[in-house]
Amino acid sequence: MNDPDPVVDHLAHVVPLVVPAEPLPPVATVVVVGGGIMGVSIAFHLAEAGVAEVLVLERNTLGSGSSAKPLGGVRATFSDTRNIVLGQRSLVAFEQFEQRFGTDIGLRQVGYLFLCRTGDQVAAVEQSVRQQNDLGCPSRMVDPAEAQRLNPFLDPGCLLAASYSPRDGYAEPARVVAGYRAAAERLGARFAEHTEVVEVTTGADGRHQVTTQCGSVTTPTVVIAAGAWSTRLGAMLGVHLPIEAIRRQIGFTPQQHHPYPTVPFTLDLSTTLYFHNHRHGLLLGISNTDEEPGLCREFSYGWTRAFDAAAEIVAPSLAHRRLAGGWAGLYENSPDHNAMIGRARNAPGVLYATGFSGHGFLQGPAVGEIVRDLYLGREPFLDPAPMSADRFTGDGNLLREVHII
Ligand SMILES: Cc1cc2nc3c(=O)[nH]c(=O)nc-3n(C[C@H](O)[C@H](O)[C@H](O)COP(=O)(O)OP(=O)(O)OC[C@H]3O[C@@H](n4cnc5c(N)ncnc54)[C@H](O)[C@@H]3O)c2cc1C
Repeated sequence: MNDPDPVVDHLAHVVPLVVPAEPLPPVATVVVVGGGIMGVSIAFHLAEAGVAEVLVLERNTLGSGSSAKPLGGVRATFSDTRNIVLGQRSLVAFEQFEQRFGTDIGLRQVGYLFLCRTGDQVAAVEQSVRQQNDLGCPSRMVDPAEAQRLNPFLDPGCLLAASYSPRDGYAEPARVVAGYRAAAERLGARFAEHTEVVEVTTGADGRHQVTTQCGSVTTPTVVIAAGAWSTRLGAMLGVHLPIEAIRRQIGFTPQQHHPYPTVPFTLDLSTTLYFHNHRHGLLLGISNTDEEPGLCREFSYGWTRAFDAAAEIVAPSLAHRRLAGGWAGLYENSPDHNAMIGRARNAPGVLYATGFSGHGFLQGPAVGEIVRDLYLGREPFLDPAPMSADRFTGDGNLLREVHII
């Protein structure tokens, strides 16, 4: 990396630009675009399988996109079988992460509590609990009194029921990204930060020339793992990856002398309000329906009114809390709010893993395995065909998932 420039340093509003110290290699076996949880997991799983010369290009620093989220929920609590299986597979990886990679990822398996306040929600959640149980998840329905015992912030009077899944919880995405990076580097993968892909062209021999602001690299295979920015990368390669980016924000209450009682990661299905512990404070969030789609990642207080209104109903003591900090990131929504994973049909040598619509952290380890197997032509543990982006061009069915917030 270059030293800070004394002139630029003194100009107001100038973005300091970092020049990567290492030149790009002229060729790579696989180029992964995007160094979030997906990019690093894919790079690790490819390198672990013996694929040499894996190169990850990240225009900023690793994990600085949506994966920069301070805490990420990990769960298998879904209604679509594929999402349940992806969640379960990743939960095992998160549980074994420290032992395998020597990195403590801050995993707290405090459980997830999905709150139901309408009869339709109860019916849908009961159905998905049955499905989760059939696949081996220990989730169960609880009545309002038990929901309140599990989470004393709740007003049981507004609830009809909840689902509780004790194996779920949350972990720290930055540590997972660092753990995969270190493991992948030990196996020979390379990570080029501050390296932005600006163009990709494909030659008559099918090889891709990936051009960045600091040189080009030629490769037979590109993996698009560029999160909310994947549509543009897809267009460079002739692959339709429809993603609508939308800002989502969270807030942290001040740290207390004494911790709050430990509560599950709790979500209200009616409003998408959610909260859980963060050390001696709480993390609060909600999907703000006033938010306009776009790539803005500046923090603002626009969402707190929606949170307060929802909290007044389900957890009144959390309404109108002072916040000590906050964070704004992007949901990378696909049209049916489910992932796009696959090998491009009409663009040889292009794979993609994107559009996770707000649950990409928890699917990261499992999706890395799937992309590895798609690349190697091996049968993955889960058939990803229904998750192909082709479903948005009329080939395949849209996916339906109840547990999306
Ligand atoms: C408030 C909030 C809460 C969330 N909560 C959860 C949760 O509880 N559980 C969960 O599982 N998920 C959660 N998510 C979603 C999760 O963070 C994302 O789904 C996940 O991080 C996506 O990972 P990714 O690697 O696909 O994308 P990203 O982490 O965004 O990585 C993509 C990378 O591509 C890079 N890039 C883009 N264009 C280029 C280019 N041209 N050249 C080079 N690099 C490029 C970007 O800089 C970025 O680093 C949450 C998201 C938000 C915003």
